[in-house]
Amino acid sequence: MSPIPSYIPALIIGAGPAGATTSLFLTKAGIDHLVIDKAAFPRDKICGDALSGKVVSLFADLGLNYLDEVESLEDEFLPCMGISFVAPNGKCLSVPFRTKVAGRETAAGFISKRIHFDQFLVNHLEPGRLLQQCELVSFERKPTGIHAILKYEGQEHAIRTDIIVGAEGDRSLVAKQLAGFVKSKDHYCAAVRAYYSGVTPGPDDRHIELLFVNEALPGYLWIFPLPNGQWNVGVGMLSRKVSDRKVNLKKLMEDLIATHPLLKDRFVNAKLESPVQGWGLPLGSKRWPLAGERFLLTGDAGSLIDPFTGEGIGNAMYSGKLAAETIRKALEQKDFSAKQLSVYEANVYAALGQELKIGNTLQKLTNYPWMFNFVVGKALKNSTLRDTITCMFEDITLRDKMRNPMFYVRLLVNN
Ligand SMILES: Cc1cc2nc3c(=O)[nH]c(=O)nc-3n(C[C@H](O)[C@H](O)[C@H](O)COP(=O)(O)OP(=O)(O)OC[C@H]3O[C@@H](n4cnc5c(N)ncnc54)[C@H](O)[C@@H]3O)c2cc1C
Repeated sequence: MSPIPSYIPALIIGAGPAGATTSLFLTKAGIDHLVIDKAAFPRDKICGDALSGKVVSLFADLGLNYLDEVESLEDEFLPCMGISFVAPNGKCLSVPFRTKVAGRETAAGFISKRIHFDQFLVNHLEPGRLLQQCELVSFERKPTGIHAILKYEGQEHAIRTDIIVGAEGDRSLVAKQLAGFVKSKDHYCAAVRAYYSGVTPGPDDRHIELLFVNEALPGYLWIFPLPNGQWNVGVGMLSRKVSDRKVNLKKLMEDLIATHPLLKDRFVNAKLESPVQGWGLPLGSKRWPLAGERFLLTGDAGSLIDPFTGEGIGNAMYSGKLAAETIRKALEQKDFSAKQLSVYEANVYAALGQELKIGNTLQKLTNYPWMFNFVVGKALKNSTLRDTITCMFEDITLRDKMRNPMFYVRLLVNN
């Protein structure tokens, strides 16, 4: 018998963080659905592998046993104790994270290879919900529903659904066909990443490091620690600049590691453990339609990556949670109209929109290295400002201060 039914109330395309989280919350609400993914898990995804506080809070929403499990998987999840920004002039601003989530002590973030993290999420899906190596080939929106063709075990299968969730990442067919997404170099980042061992740790224990070296602006080189002495190292830059300056990111990363004064000594004993591979980041610096008649877009399919930090996993999972809530209501009311589903887009932007705007402002700040040097220099001298920046990583209203020009004026006049 075919594992593909002829009808399913909700069909989720992709079992990355966005799709898997949508499924986890739908299961929690007792909603019938199917997730398909063209890959066989465990599968890799080119990424920096840093899981922010948002991911940890969502674990808490799903049940605190998730946090217990992650903490016990020491070979796969490394607790992240903070973030270190290195300004173009080499000065380092270290921002430690606080460690209380849902009233319990835990690391505020983790670093975990995606081959492990995505498998962890998939392991928690209700048995029978995920069909692997099953690909969305095409679909049509009709008054009776979304009629899709899936390819599974070499054969094409027809399926009808009331609502389709685009969670297929950067190259989403649903986003292209139903929301008219087109790639724009001004709202897209190109990046490469590789795994290393033997890197000399930075000054701060288990911090993720973002190095805004001049050669990579507007963008940065990252060095993230992983369990078992491994490191995720990469460099990313706005696609517009990559093409205007004809930058070869792989070469840029190799050159920086070999010659940059801040890096070369740390990589003397480093061993490359993987190929240097590239992938794109659809940034949330432009607002796209995320919902319409019979469809929702989550995660990278909805272009929800923070334009400054490159964080996309937390936003993908958060949008998945909001998508599940919208699907529950739409099925309850048997209403799949654009109007009914537009509440999803409103909710996503209410929760993440401000943060994405701030990320966009901060990304633009990296076009002015002197300004970046100045803010970091001030923060190093001024403990109140340092504390404010630390809080900004937990409190979005504080982070909003950085969008206000008065923030910089006050910095100029205060010590
Ligand atoms: C180099 C790089 C570094 C990054 N670093 C970080 C970081 O450190 N921290 C962070 O938070 N974010 C980071 N990001 C962003 C992060 O990787 C993404 O935001 C995140 O993976 C989005 O999750 P998703 O579920 O939307 O999509 P994905 O993780 O891309 O999952 C999509 C899934 O859909 C499946 N699929 C695709 N097409 C089909 C189809 N037609 N039919 C069926 N299945 C399909 C794919 O097989 C895949 O499993 C980085 C991105 C890049 C490129």
